[in-house]
Amino acid sequence: MAYTPATEELIRALQGLPGIGSRSAARMALHLLERDTESAQWLNNALAEALNKVHRCPSCRTLTEQVECDICQDSERDASSLCVVVNDADRAAIEMSKQFQGHYFVLHGVLSPIEGVGPEQLAIFDLIDKLKNNDVSEVIFVLDDQMESEATVFYITEQLKAIDVRCSRVTLMHLKNGNLDQAESRHLVSALTNRQEITLEQE
Ligand SMILES: [Zn+2]
Repeated sequence: MAYTPATEELIRALQGLPGIGSRSAARMALHLLERDTESAQWLNNALAEALNKVHRCPSCRTLTEQVECDICQDSERDASSLCVVVNDADRAAIEMSKQFQGHYFVLHGVLSPIEGVGPEQLAIFDLIDKLKNNDVSEVIFVLDDQMESEATVFYITEQLKAIDVRCSRVTLMHLKNGNLDQAESRHLVSALTNRQEITLEQE
């Protein structure tokens, strides 16, 4: 073993983060333990506090520290329009564009049978119930163009055939991390304005 058991465990934990390979994980772990224990303590406290306070809004699955998120509580927002996104970073990016005044539903992933992600993990049946029981007239899917995303949109729209709701689709490649640059932000604005309606064949 190259490092102590606790160091190895920390490296394995860091390696589980998106985009972090084994070498980066080892570099980060050693940096925190050897040179920057103050930051390590800060990280430790911030992570514990966030895990303790942050949870998914029961209504839309946005991450929040309140019983219900700000958007669901805001009576000024348009409850007839619902935007379906993959994660909270995408929701934050759309919020920053200020082009959408409706409500959201955050899937926290896309369908992926290989990774064991099915409709239950994405709460798709909760979404369907929400659409059945609320006055939503339009569902806007804002997802990227990857195969799993397309399959997820297709799966959900198939379930919506029996419900009287308009569905439209915005395909965005760079909607990640909530840090849109100016060009991406402009693209998001025009994509939302020129969204494509999905035609549902009624049964
Ligand atoms: Zn909410």
